[in-house]
Amino acid sequence: MKYWKITALYYGQLTLSRAAFSGTVQPELVTDYPFGGFLLQNGSENVLVDTGMRESYYEKMAIGDVNPIGSTEILLEALAKEGLTPADIDTVIYSHLHYDHCGNIDLFYDKPTYVQKKEYNNMMNPYSFQTARMDYFPDTPGMLAKVKNLIFVDGDIKLSNGLELYLTPGHSQGSQTIVVPTEKGRYVLTGDNPSAKYCLFPWLDKMTLMDGTTVDLTPITDGSLKFLTGVFVPDQFSSYDSYYKQLALAEKPIPEYFICNHEPENIFRKYFG
Ligand SMILES: [Zn+2]
Repeated sequence: MKYWKITALYYGQLTLSRAAFSGTVQPELVTDYPFGGFLLQNGSENVLVDTGMRESYYEKMAIGDVNPIGSTEILLEALAKEGLTPADIDTVIYSHLHYDHCGNIDLFYDKPTYVQKKEYNNMMNPYSFQTARMDYFPDTPGMLAKVKNLIFVDGDIKLSNGLELYLTPGHSQGSQTIVVPTEKGRYVLTGDNPSAKYCLFPWLDKMTLMDGTTVDLTPITDGSLKFLTGVFVPDQFSSYDSYYKQLALAEKPIPEYFICNHEPENIFRKYFG
């Protein structure tokens, strides 16, 4: 089996209170979190995980005043920094179909594209709170319909190239986790379930920001909160089950092997595996 290398891509950013992801823990900590994606490479294939934001989405974003940055141009810049254009991408995998993860589907219509069937169904039949928050943008179904080879994943599968896809609901009904076998072990791309590592490991007492500086986290060390969930986790029961599932999938159940989509450290560190 060929090993993969993981490169974090910067698609933009937004500013959030920690409470968005942590619930009641340290709501006063307000920092920038990236919109991100990942490039997975094994020497013969370029796989793109998520396709970022569109500038036209800012106006309709319904999660408060979060100073969003993100555009098609920023996605193209992120790929260019790796010496790539959309034409060089072989396959696209979506962690889920929220607007900040699939804003540029139209650049990849001719690529085999993997999405969980439950996520597609959730997007087509959103709950009213999802519509009110504009989790799914109105133009996404139309763009997805133009993808020539849209592959619906029904649960957990292993692809022939070694990548593994798992259904891990909680943040959305069809959130998808991607396990990437690298020379350094099995890394788990969690998507937004969870969005940041301190949700899986509430005892963490530091977080590295996008510029490499660190901030102090209020750690939960007495075991009173097994995991953290915030306003972006509408199904806490499923989310907990997914967290346990993810912990069992990694090389070891320690922070090193987990890469969350909105983790600021990804942008500073950039390479994994
Ligand atoms: Zn999301």
